[in-house]
Amino acid sequence: MPIYEYRCEDCGFQKDHLQKMSDAPLAECPSCHSGRYVRQISAAGFQLKGTGWYATDFKCCGSDKNAKAESPAAPACGGGCACHPS
Ligand SMILES: [Zn+2]
Repeated sequence: MPIYEYRCEDCGFQKDHLQKMSDAPLAECPSCHSGRYVRQISAAGFQLKGTGWYATDFKCCGSDKNAKAESPAAPACGGGCACHPS
């Protein structure tokens, strides 16, 4: 049975859910009951490898915009994002 990672786009709540392929996707956030509780594309196994990339990407494009000035030659996101257009 595959494990799906869900994330709430409103409050940021994240949780892995064990679901059958035939189960309907969850739609309501267990934390804030928002209807924007969406299943993430990547599988749980891949998520471990992807976490670092996602974390740096988030830092680069989200909370820490100063990263651009600190390392202009090698942005953490690898370029191509909103703050580091290639
Ligand atoms: Zn929520």
